Amino acid sequence: MPEVFRNYINGEWVDGPTFENRNPANTDEVVGLFVKGTGDDVHRAADAAQAAFAGWANMPGPARGALLFKVADILEKKFDQLGEEMCREEGKTLPEAKGEVRRAINIFRYFGSEGSRLPGHLVPSERDRVHMFAIRKPIGVIGLINPWNFPIAIPAWKLAPALICGNTVIIKPASVSPLSSWRIVEACHEAGIPKGVVNFIAGSGGEIGKALVTAKPLKAISFTGSCEIGEWIHTEASKRRLRIQLEMGGKNPTIVLADADFKSAVENVVNAAFFSTGQKCTATSRAIVEESIYDKFVEAVAERMSKLKVGNGMEPGIDIGPAVDQGQLETDLKYIEIGKQEGARLVAGGNRLTGGAYDKGYFVEPTLFADVTETMRIAQEEVFGPVLAVMKAKDFTDALRIANNIPFGLSASVQTTNLSRVFEFVYGAEAGLLTINLPSAGVEYQLPFGGTKDSSFGPKEQGPAALDFYSDYKTVYLKY
Ligand code: NAP
Repeated sequence: MPEVFRNYINGEWVDGPTFENRNPANTDEVVGLFVKGTGDDVHRAADAAQAAFAGWANMPGPARGALLFKVADILEKKFDQLGEEMCREEGKTLPEAKGEVRRAINIFRYFGSEGSRLPGHLVPSERDRVHMFAIRKPIGVIGLINPWNFPIAIPAWKLAPALICGNTVIIKPASVSPLSSWRIVEACHEAGIPKGVVNFIAGSGGEIGKALVTAKPLKAISFTGSCEIGEWIHTEASKRRLRIQLEMGGKNPTIVLADADFKSAVENVVNAAFFSTGQKCTATSRAIVEESIYDKFVEAVAERMSKLKVGNGMEPGIDIGPAVDQGQLETDLKYIEIGKQEGARLVAGGNRLTGGAYDKGYFVEPTLFADVTETMRIAQEEVFGPVLAVMKAKDFTDALRIANNIPFGLSASVQTTNLSRVFEFVYGAEAGLLTINLPSAGVEYQLPFGGTKDSSFGPKEQGPAALDFYSDYKTVYLKY
């Protein structure tokens, strides 16, 4: 019998009917059973979080920080287990999963230290004997809604800054990968974070989302996921003037110029397009290549792709795991069909992988389309799978125009050795996250993270900027 993972409300583990979390690389395997929370659970959790708020907010920042360090230590003791569980619930390869667990641990330590700083402002007054300063204060009860693709890093980068600022929270994990964030909550419980401060409710996004936007004590929602759901939250939460932070989809470009280090450009594009099965919000889905190296580049990418091994991410030597579920697999195959019908040239891949162990999972071949033009749907719409569209550009100016000609603006990359092109790209690219001579995907936690245009709304996540969403200022003028 698979293990049952219960919801966590007001410091208690709460039972109820369950739903299955299955391994996308082997759907015979049930990773766990999760209690399906309800709207009533959300309202109870919100009341508990409200009751816990004053005590938590008034605890000194360094004491809250010490508890976050404990959470990090508990996660670290389970490092291998957490990596394996994530590989089994989400499908990414074991090294990628372990890298993500490491990142989550580092995030708790980073924001734990922030408890001893929580920087405000102290400036000289124009007036005589007036002392003026601004201190940070927490907001209150915050809903944290998570996607499935980074099941421990994203909950960590929402939860840790929320807690260090003195807020209390309700965590909603994605239904296809709830276990990794459940482990964080278990660690919070073991670390002794007071009851009501952290609450966890798995279950249907629609039901829990509706309850979150109506739960009276709620003050803010941080959401990462699709544009469609983000837009719904924006509309509903704005009716109550909830503070909102939305991180959503992308259609990220990598520009490859003729002067680039060719080998590393190929490697960076292949890495960013296909690793984690293309299921990173910062993945490259468009390679925009200068025409003088276009044919050579397409050929080299196809050659590199032929060496990629697709399979169960628990096995050594596997580069690419499965799509996360049946729905994402169907989306990948649908866009491959759309690409063919639109007249893009299918250079590699294009099929579901079948036979043997492949029949047990949602495996799709890494797929390369060349001669993609700007108006094609595979050049405009997010696939969120291992599908790369290669587009031809006359020169850098043309490439940058094509790169910006989309509604999204999450990440963008350029491969070049020309310093002027680097700076033109830095100032001209319409994206919140830029990489140069690196893959477009792969971020650290110490700097602001988030997009622009339709990809994002509200303050950035991570780094020092994270505090801006999870706290407010109180400004003080004092005559002495
Ligand atoms: P999703 O379908 O929008 O789901 C995200 C979360 O929202 C899940 O927990 C989901 O719950 C929940 N949800 C569903 N309906 C809801 C509602 N009406 N109200 C409130 N919450 C609701 O997205 P996804 O498929 O998990 O993730 C893939 C998307 O996330 C892609 O578009 C990707 O680009 C984006 N993403 C963006 C970033 C970034 O930083 N910009 C990072 C990672 C992913 P259920 O699972 O129960 O449906």
